[in-house]
Amino acid sequence: MSLRHVEVGGTAPYRITIGRGLLRDGNLLAQSLRGRHVLVVSDANVAPLYAQAVVDALRAARPDLRIATHVMPAGEREKTLSRFGEAVDALAALGATRDACVYALGGGVVGDLAGFAAACWMRGIDCVQLPTTLLAMVDSSVGGKTAIDLPQGKNLVGAFHPPVAVVADTDALRTLPARELRAGLAEVVKYGAIVDASFLDWLAARADALLGGDGDALVDAIARSCVHKAAIVERDPFERGERALLNFGHTFGHAIETAQDYGTLNHGESVAVGMVLAARLSSALGLATDTDAMILQALLQRFGLPTALPTGLDPDVLLAHMRLDKKAQASGLRFVLWEGLGRARVVADVPGDAVRDILGST
Ligand code: NAD
Ligand code: MG
Repeated sequence: MSLRHVEVGGTAPYRITIGRGLLRDGNLLAQSLRGRHVLVVSDANVAPLYAQAVVDALRAARPDLRIATHVMPAGEREKTLSRFGEAVDALAALGATRDACVYALGGGVVGDLAGFAAACWMRGIDCVQLPTTLLAMVDSSVGGKTAIDLPQGKNLVGAFHPPVAVVADTDALRTLPARELRAGLAEVVKYGAIVDASFLDWLAARADALLGGDGDALVDAIARSCVHKAAIVERDPFERGERALLNFGHTFGHAIETAQDYGTLNHGESVAVGMVLAARLSSALGLATDTDAMILQALLQRFGLPTALPTGLDPDVLLAHMRLDKKAQASGLRFVLWEGLGRARVVADVPGDAVRDILGST
């Protein structure tokens, strides 16, 4: 049985543990607990599957604990200020003290909202991330960003609040809808695309195993992704520089998500299309070769991900969204582009016409 540890360094170091059956390992779950109060936050899909196992495991390891479970409705639409208020109310009802701990059991929505509740309760209590989607295991649970959405936009209210531990149980992925698994694989491919070309070969060789939910292949893919994310956030915890590379494919991706009103393509799928467009834009600007763009595209297709814009999206509308993206700067369009497989960089002042050409040619 494979078990992996990834250490995240920096000013608030923590450990990511990846393996099978970990949500039942009470000693592991309780390892970083300082006090007696525990709030398990989960959503209506995940709680019936895994919350009782987590509570039972914690109780077996630490019979003295006071544990409450707070279940929120599932979905991005629920990552709101009022759902945040309900989570904080649950901490109040528990009588949570400064040494209490929030366990965020779910995908990125639960992780972001519960993490933000932990960041705010008494100006910050411990949070353990228990990600149950592939996206949360390789991305949202690592790096300390927490947030909720406002009607005006996604993730507008939040805090940097690193967890004290991350425990990723790959057995939980067995119940994840196949489409959500593929969306997570898009972010896995992203790490290869930005910093690790050999990871792309590795992924291509194991595509069937990963899509089939093979536990060992998933543990390896998650661990390697976390190593890359950890290295980047350690060097740039507050996204003042290098961390922006993690947005490869995301400027196009966000524009697609916004233009279709979060309809047809989900986040991972939009990022898959976005990465191919970013690779093509890099070729058009003479930074990289078309061959590398085609290798990336073929790998994404192998994972059943879309690589072309959905029909009916107006290139000018997409371009307008990109100009409004919160990562854009006044001077011009700013993109994460690449110099080929595994070599991403931020390029400022990308001419709008070049972007328009790429959008119009798919
Ligand atoms: P999600 O949390 O909505 O989960 C997707 C769906 O799968 C939900 O319906 C959920 O209930 C269900 N689900 C979760 N685990 C399951 C399991 N094991 N079995 C069955 N169903 C399960 O979405 P997500 O893709 O995990 O996360 C997206 C969110 O993450 C967004 O809000 C995004 O902003 C955020 N995010 C944050 C960061 C960060 O750095 N903090 C990074 C990337 C994304
Ligand atoms: Mg993303």
